[in-house]
Order: sequence, then structure tokens, then C-alpha cells
Amino acid sequence: MARNLVLGQPTVGQLGDRWWVGAGSTWLASFSQSILIAMMARLMQGLSARLPSQCLVCHAWPAQAVCEACVGQFAQPRPRCRTCAITVVPGIDQCGACVRQNPPIDACFTAVAYAYPWSGLVINFKFHAQPGLVATLALLLRSAPWVEPALDSADIVLPMPLSRERLRLRGFNQALLLAKHLAPDKSDGSMLLRLWDTPAQRTLGRAERLTSLAGAFSVEPLAAERLRGARVVLVDDVMTSGATLFAAARTVRQAGAAHITGLVIARTPND
Ligand SMILES: [Zn+2]
Ligand SMILES: [Zn+2]
Repeated sequence: MARNLVLGQPTVGQLGDRWWVGAGSTWLASFSQSILIAMMARLMQGLSARLPSQCLVCHAWPAQAVCEACVGQFAQPRPRCRTCAITVVPGIDQCGACVRQNPPIDACFTAVAYAYPWSGLVINFKFHAQPGLVATLALLLRSAPWVEPALDSADIVLPMPLSRERLRLRGFNQALLLAKHLAPDKSDGSMLLRLWDTPAQRTLGRAERLTSLAGAFSVEPLAAERLRGARVVLVDDVMTSGATLFAAARTVRQAGAAHITGLVIARTPND
């Protein structure tokens, strides 16, 4: 697992030779130190290119949108479950919950934990469509392990939709802004539909959660044909239980998608 990441240089410090290697998984094994170094270097270059700036986290001035010290302290890549992105111990490919019941998704990646300082930035992003914040969070996500390859190999990038009512209240869909930033040529905000909102997932038990989500998503009939055999990326800002993302994935799978990857900026920690 990554350790002692030294930022602000084109190279970073001590990393395990093979970080986040899943047992028996050759594609995970191919993720080498050099790829991680390149990702972090690009993240730092991208963040430092953004002007003017005060660090959004520690308010250091002048600094990048998120300063080097804060990225180093709070955005270290961690070993995560391949299908729900929860943190796992190094060498584990999937968490116990996913082994017991494989999610309807092929892969799921996140940039950071939904905790300080990212939770504050994500909430800001959710309720205020600040262009600088969208760009910063998109860059953070794009620089996370496996995200860029997932976007490159995708045919279609779908933001998690809001219901018509929620969209009217909020005025914009933060996941659509994010998807457009991540993949302007592949994002499509009209293909996946949210038919109704469900109560906050945290307040529901598992059975109620699944029931409340059944049928909550649909695919635009006129666009359904494009999903057949497609590699799809689903984009959202935060993943908590995963129930909502998985419900959307189930709908996309039923429409014929061949491969589905979930990308979220932040994932709630296990504890
Ligand atoms: Zn900072
Ligand atoms: Zn899992």
C-alpha cells in the first residue's frame, strides 16, 4: 500500500512494488509503482495549473485548488474492494459482502474517503455548481487508480440521474457536471432516468432499501439500443451503501450493457 507519498515533485516516494494487488487477479497485478507515480504527478501538475488559488482544504495562500500537502495527507490511494470500493487490507480483491453477493457491477473505483476534508468539498459541489470545484474534484477522481483506463475504454459515461422533482429543486445534476468534465464526448445525461426519489438510504434497513429502489431507474427507450453490448461507466459524487449505484447498474445491465464500472469521488469509510 502507498506510503510516505512525497508530493510536489515529478516523482513520489516509497510505494510498494505492487500496490493493491488482488489475489489471483492479473490485471490488478499489472498496476505498478510507475503507473501510480505518473498518476500522482499528473494530479499535482493539474492542480497547480489552476489559478488563482487558495487551498480549498487548509486555505493556504497562494496554493493550488487543493495544495500539495493536503493531497499528500488526505488523498493517498488505499487498497479497495474491486466491486464496491470499500477499503480492504492489502492483497484482497473483493470484500466479504461482495464475495457473498456479487454486485451487478464489474468494477467500482473511488478517489477518496467520504470524510474530512473531502466531505465538505463534495457537499459544496452538490449544492453549488462552482466550476472550479467541479474541475478539481474531476481531476481528483481522474487521477485515482484505474479511473483513467476505465474512462478510456468506456463507450458511454452515464451520470447518476436525479428525479425531475429533485432536479427542479436543485437546479442542476452534480453527477452530470462531473461526467461532462470526465468524458465530454462520451457522457450522456438523458439515457438513464430516475423515476422517483427514495428516502435517505441511511435511514432504511437493507430490505426496505432494496424495495424502495426497485424500479426507481429506467432507460430512455429511444436510447436503449445504444446500451446493448456497450461498456458503461456510471458516475456519482458519493457512494454510501452502494444500493443506489447498484440499482442503476442493474437497470443498465438489463438494457444489455456488457461491462459496467462505477466511479465516485468519495466512498464512505467502513467504520
Ligand atoms: Zn492545503
Ligand atoms: Zn466489496
